[in-house]
Amino acid sequence: MQIDIITIFPEYFGPLSVSLIGKAAERGDIRFTVHDLRRWTYDVHHTVDDSPFGGGPGMVMKPEPWGEALDSIAPAGADPLLVIPTPAGLSFSQQRAARYAAEPWLIFACGRYEGIDGRVADEARSRMRVEEVSIGDYVLAGGEPAVLVMTEAICRLLPGVLGNAESAADDSFGFGASSADAEVTGATSPGGPMAGLVEGPAYTRPRVWRDRQVPPVLLSGDHGAIARWRRDSALRRTAQNRPDLVARLVWADRAKAAGRDVAQAQPARSQPGQSELAQSELAQSEPAQSEGAQPQLAPRRVQSGQLDEHDLAVLAEAGFPVTGQDVAH
Ligand code: SAM
Repeated sequence: MQIDIITIFPEYFGPLSVSLIGKAAERGDIRFTVHDLRRWTYDVHHTVDDSPFGGGPGMVMKPEPWGEALDSIAPAGADPLLVIPTPAGLSFSQQRAARYAAEPWLIFACGRYEGIDGRVADEARSRMRVEEVSIGDYVLAGGEPAVLVMTEAICRLLPGVLGNAESAADDSFGFGASSADAEVTGATSPGGPMAGLVEGPAYTRPRVWRDRQVPPVLLSGDHGAIARWRRDSALRRTAQNRPDLVARLVWADRAKAAGRDVAQAQPARSQPGQSELAQSELAQSEPAQSEGAQPQLAPRRVQSGQLDEHDLAVLAEAGFPVTGQDVAH
């Protein structure tokens, strides 16, 4: 995989030579090329910014150096994917990381100040694929840390980067998409056992530490029971910390069971007994409702296999809006 990074702070990318990704780069499995944007400036101060049209605070990155940098790195006919980090972009997720890991060539354009002149992305779109991507709902000072985050998430999914080939598949969010994501996006892989969930806690030796025991099932050697315990603890932890993710799974499963288009369906609504946090997260996870939107899906037995009845019972116990009725019907 080739990764080009354009930045005004090339020194920011020292960490790319460290740890597993550094080793993959040493082996030649990943080729990083970091470009200093100021190389494409011609005034004595190597200026890359100017004041914004329309007024307002801050500066905006000038389009000319960006245009020349992209022309030079990806000449006509080249087919890279240009990723522009911005808090206003599409969300970066494990699913997006997996999709980017399948690309042979990525270019990252690190903005600073108030961002890059809007015409740069528009013009680049006329000759290459462009995605504007956010790593979270907060504002960084520049795109560099966002690119470090994304490259680490992407590169660890490349073959041979992780020591244990299984570990990415068992991680939080699973490998690739959750079934809910796959339904909405058409992704081909429904993901690993943690698809759509965050992983539960992990333990190592000693068996007892400061009077705290490792859960006995993990010492039992019963692989089926261990897998079930891991899934249960993932469901509980996800319900506690990421009710928005559970809402998506329940919502997708109900829609599937009802034979409805998942993209059209709504997450289940909150119910009495659900924690305040869960209710507010659930409300945030609902897609915007258009007029005449479908009413809440009728509770029914889930048939899709994404959440089995045991899963639903664990979620109900964790205070999620999956009633006993759902499980019993
Ligand atoms: N004015 C912009 C806005 O409000 O959307 C924020 C610009 S920010 C101060 C400067 C640069 O940091 C952005 O161009 C982008 O490259 C990067 N950045 C900041 N927050 C980010 C985020 N959450 N995800 C990805 N990149 C981010």
